[in-house]
Amino acid sequence: MIKDCRKICPVCGYDDLDEGPFTEGGYPTYEICPCCGYEFGYDDEAAGFSYTAFREKWIAGGFRWFTEEEQPNNWDRPMMEKQLSNVKLSKAKSRYVAKIDNI
Ligand SMILES: [Zn+2]
Repeated sequence: MIKDCRKICPVCGYDDLDEGPFTEGGYPTYEICPCCGYEFGYDDEAAGFSYTAFREKWIAGGFRWFTEEEQPNNWDRPMMEKQLSNVKLSKAKSRYVAKIDNI
């Protein structure tokens, strides 16, 4: 199955965002990722977090879901790391590509 790269969170790899980080025209959607809680257009542009910095903070804090009701029951580190592998798919589409380091 081919995933829609625009719907992948570039921070945590969650792959079912409603809109994704940016509109077709390149404007931030202000969508908040239910998994890591990153708000596109706010945490990056106003708060100054790079995706990498936010990801490190999220993982260091126990990688809990922002929307707790959506957190899978068996959510654990291997599952989180598997989800993070989606981030590589979204890199090519990201306008912040230069800010993203290897995970
Ligand atoms: Zn996320």
